[in-house]
Amino acid sequence: MNYIDMHCDTLAEALVRKSSTAERLEGTMIDAARLKESGAAAQFFAMFLPQRNEPGWFGCQKMPEAEELMEKMYRVFQNTMQACSSYLAPAHNFAELEHNRTAGKISAFLTIENGDPVRGKMENLKRFYDMGVRLITLTWNDANCFGYPHSEQAEEMKQGLTDFGKEAVSYMQELGILVDVSHLSDGGFYDVAERARRAAKPFVASHSNCRALSPATRNLTDEMIRILADCGGVAGINFAPEFLNADATDQFSRVERMCDHVLHFMDKGGVECVGIGTDFDGISGEFEISDCTKMELLFDALHRRGLSGDALEKIAYGNVARVIRDTM
Ligand SMILES: [Zn+2]
Repeated sequence: MNYIDMHCDTLAEALVRKSSTAERLEGTMIDAARLKESGAAAQFFAMFLPQRNEPGWFGCQKMPEAEELMEKMYRVFQNTMQACSSYLAPAHNFAELEHNRTAGKISAFLTIENGDPVRGKMENLKRFYDMGVRLITLTWNDANCFGYPHSEQAEEMKQGLTDFGKEAVSYMQELGILVDVSHLSDGGFYDVAERARRAAKPFVASHSNCRALSPATRNLTDEMIRILADCGGVAGINFAPEFLNADATDQFSRVERMCDHVLHFMDKGGVECVGIGTDFDGISGEFEISDCTKMELLFDALHRRGLSGDALEKIAYGNVARVIRDTM
């Protein structure tokens, strides 16, 4: 089934493997060659830019600066586009998504996970837009110039966007960079939603599930799901066990549990607010869907749980395609 996946960390995994492309990567959950067999119509590729000193995450001795990391992942992305140009092509908007689809090619959208390298400067947003970035996940798990991360500390969780963050969200909407609230504080979510409503531009939670089913602070409350849906936005089902299961120690990622989250999103926000955001290559545990070639297991299970062909098409493809059309 044709689908759009709003989040993977495969570019970072290419760095770990010291590979100059993501064409074929041993032991990962996505590579370009396997995307061909997956049914993907589009894959969002994140440049993951943490603020923490964890050189091991990227197979380095010393943690590179964010700009250097971004440069490396950008090069992997570009090299992959070149090496796989017969079946994979970059896309920056809805017209290019459709054009690639008609040409039988998978679209690749370039994104940034963690807006920290924006460094409080609007001109950096323009620079990233000019590089081809079309979605920014405002924070990762640390505070930055946009705002504050999700947190178990109630005070931190309540904090909204910074003044710069509010202005930057409006500028992103103007430029055509999709605003992503996954990882953001609850207060930040509400600030984004307010600006989204004012600008009549949807936003996404690219890789977040339902907090009512799995209490992780990375997930969305029922109220947030309703607001997201109201703004025309979409949440992408994340395959990580800790965001699917009620018991945080349960490290098994089950397809039926993904279906539970899809149905809960539909119940609270309607069928138009659900999409896919696997988080492949950024998650660990045991997986029924262990790589992108097994995505059909999810769509088959949703069908068995009673979803119509029309609902399945929206969740797999149509909802995110609509957001791309409305924002980029
Ligand atoms: Zn993430």
